[in-house]
Amino acid sequence: SGYVAVLGKPNVGKSTLSNQMVGQKLSIVTDKPQTTRHRILGIISSEEYQMILYDTPGVIEKKMHQLDTMMMKNVRSAAVNADCVLIVVDASKMPRKIDEILEEGNLKDKVPTLLVLNKKDLIKPGEIAKRLEWYEKFTDVDEVIPVSAKFGHGIEDIKNWILTKLPTGPAYYP
Ligand code: GDP
Repeated sequence: SGYVAVLGKPNVGKSTLSNQMVGQKLSIVTDKPQTTRHRILGIISSEEYQMILYDTPGVIEKKMHQLDTMMMKNVRSAAVNADCVLIVVDASKMPRKIDEILEEGNLKDKVPTLLVLNKKDLIKPGEIAKRLEWYEKFTDVDEVIPVSAKFGHGIEDIKNWILTKLPTGPAYYP
């Protein structure tokens, strides 16, 4: 068992993805307004892990450094207890740097990070390949996996990745 922090701006598909992954609806949803420090969207559990969903601010009109500061606060609290981190982005949107999120978030030495390129169904395969290349080149994540949470494509790949990162996972105790 372990903790998976799921991070990303509102509407990128964190809830859809997590529901698909554990085969149930979000079990706990906070009623707190979005002014709470952690912006916890919900917690969802399977036998193997708990996924804690965090909204990072969605206001991209803000200056880049302001946005990153806010995101970093969220990530810092999210990553403290997490065994691994999923950063979910919308593949149909222009890619943006997430290096600072990772740097600030990785408090527990180096938390393994996976970039989930969601909503791949919205763009052409050639575009997916370009996005993937961009994120691999310009971010410091350990892996990038394109998925469609809505249509359930790529979910197993994420699960498999997570399971190798958990403390009791087979990859850690062969
Ligand atoms: P969250 O705010 O990050 O938790 O995002 P949600 O899971 O609530 O999803 C936001 C919207 O995006 C919803 O209308 C979903 O149906 C839609 N969505 C989520 N995943 C996908 C996907 O893979 N493809 C498409 N086309 N839409 C998606």
